[in-house]
Amino acid sequence: MTDIINLLPDSVANQIAAGEVIQRPASVVKELMENSIDALATKIQVILKDGGNTLIQVIDNGKGMSETDARMSFERHATSKIKDADDLFSLRTMGFRGEALPSIAAVAQVEIKTRREEDSLGVFIEIAGTRVFKQETVMCEKGTNIAVKSLFFNVPARRRFLKSQSTEMMHIRNEFYRIVLVHPEIEFSLFDGKNELLQLPETTLKGRIEHVFDLARKKMEQQLLPVSANSQLIDIKGFVGRPEFAQKSANQYFFVNNRYMRHPYFHKAVMVAYEKLIKPGENPNYFIYFDVDPHSIDVNVHPSKTEIKFENEQAIWSIIHAAVRETLGKFQIAPSLDFDQEGNVDIPVLDSKSVILPPKTSFNPQYNPFGSSSSQHKRPDLDWEKLYTDFDKDKNRLKPAFTNDENVIIETDSTQTEISLEPTKTELFQFKSSYICTSVKSGMMLIDQHRAHFRILFDRFIKKIENKKSFSQQVLFPEILELDPNESEAMNTIIDDLNLVGFDIEPFGKNTFSINGVPSEVGVGSSIPLIKDLLASVIQSEIDVKKKVQTQIALHLARQTAIQSGQFMSQNEMNQLFEDLFQCENHLYSPDGKIIMTVIRNEEIERKFR
Ligand code: ADP
Ligand code: MG
Repeated sequence: MTDIINLLPDSVANQIAAGEVIQRPASVVKELMENSIDALATKIQVILKDGGNTLIQVIDNGKGMSETDARMSFERHATSKIKDADDLFSLRTMGFRGEALPSIAAVAQVEIKTRREEDSLGVFIEIAGTRVFKQETVMCEKGTNIAVKSLFFNVPARRRFLKSQSTEMMHIRNEFYRIVLVHPEIEFSLFDGKNELLQLPETTLKGRIEHVFDLARKKMEQQLLPVSANSQLIDIKGFVGRPEFAQKSANQYFFVNNRYMRHPYFHKAVMVAYEKLIKPGENPNYFIYFDVDPHSIDVNVHPSKTEIKFENEQAIWSIIHAAVRETLGKFQIAPSLDFDQEGNVDIPVLDSKSVILPPKTSFNPQYNPFGSSSSQHKRPDLDWEKLYTDFDKDKNRLKPAFTNDENVIIETDSTQTEISLEPTKTELFQFKSSYICTSVKSGMMLIDQHRAHFRILFDRFIKKIENKKSFSQQVLFPEILELDPNESEAMNTIIDDLNLVGFDIEPFGKNTFSINGVPSEVGVGSSIPLIKDLLASVIQSEIDVKKKVQTQIALHLARQTAIQSGQFMSQNEMNQLFEDLFQCENHLYSPDGKIIMTVIRNEEIERKFR
């Protein structure tokens, strides 16, 4: 018998592979736009004809390609973005598999014109399948101009499966949105033939969202509320829509490291935050951008897939939920201190399974087990009261805003009772020199003193960094810091960042530095061990000097200078901590994503006395 195994010719292999990467015109648009972004273009034009069926053209002003690279780029697994498997795990470019161009060329007729800045002439290549029909030098603009014609001309089965032009156009728009919404710094335009569909100038993130969805014309500029959260696990920023703008079909976008993703579990975190604020069946708009260490997500997903796996999904869920809740609370839409809402658990409770609610009348919210003791340590009344009056004002403001609208979203009466905070002047009590206890409406609150202080200090350092002006507390006698060469080198890489968080440090001869000032959060005598500790972290690469060093310094400093567990706190110190904590935007989680407080529910306590 003769052997029966054949190697498939390249053209067939490419066509098969193309089936995975290129499903429809929208996939071509996505791949080409991503290439332009990876090529650092600042202006990208997308031109379509007949919903992309006859022409998809992308013109960029990016870095272009040399003649050899232009030819190479159509070879399978030809990519300039990774060299070995390790690179896969630290990737931040869009493409990396080197599959897009050969796949596109396998199922369409492609013409490319490209020129690098340093070349006087560019190159023109015409290619279809694996065959190059033409290659010549041409005069052209810097950048790349690629035209994909007659998509699937050689795959009739695929061609038949394409939907109507308007459906394909809708898919293209979706891909287009997913890309332009992460690159407000790039100017984009979208044409259907000569018809300009969208023209997006360079702008801010918020500006971009408003332009894309034409919010200004719809008089909806006010609807976007900023969301943000910083923790060691994940940084989140973005915008969520006011509940009154919720619609049946909403614009909901998650992005991770500048890439669109679908994440039903995280979607739920946002939706739960809106619970009771919107009618069932309605959806809020959201645009939430995650920044995570690429190592903590699964990057090896297929390029056309949008699902992404994270480590620590549960912790991230809580962070998203808290951040959105926080925003809605801050803008007086939902109470951020509503300790008494079943189902809207702002604060992780110990007994979350509990469903038996004691009759409301049997519970006296004024009751405070610590109220009668140590009356000389009464906390200042002023701020507490202000907090409540502000809240009352906002409650009332909510009412007309919602009732004027035909979408009455909230039962105003029940909302009022839900919003109301417990107006007692609470005494604080330290438990085991580690936790601060107090009575709240729904039970007994326990606050981890170290984590709370860690959050407060971290936020302060971050604020200094953001404001870029920090006042250091000048010391009377500068301390001299003598370092070994390693430490000294580490110091040189972070000295500017240290000065930004409030130190005033200057080089003072070889391997020696003088500390002229320290941040007010740091005790004067303790700066040397603190700095030595930071330098050790840089040397051991616990602090990655290539990434947001300032945030990492803020984290270290805050963690080290925060009050520790086991440390006694005076009544005044507890009061201060309590107040400062609730001034923090995110008072639920420490910067490393751990819970700061928990509530032991009334019913749990009452059950113990049955
Ligand atoms: P990948 O993007 O995964 O590397 P592609 O097949 O999409 O693979 O592109 C192959 C290579 O061609 C890229 O790595 C890049 O070097 C080059 N390239 C593609 N498009 C452009 C462009 N618009 N400008 C400059 N270089 C490009
Ligand atoms: Mg690519």
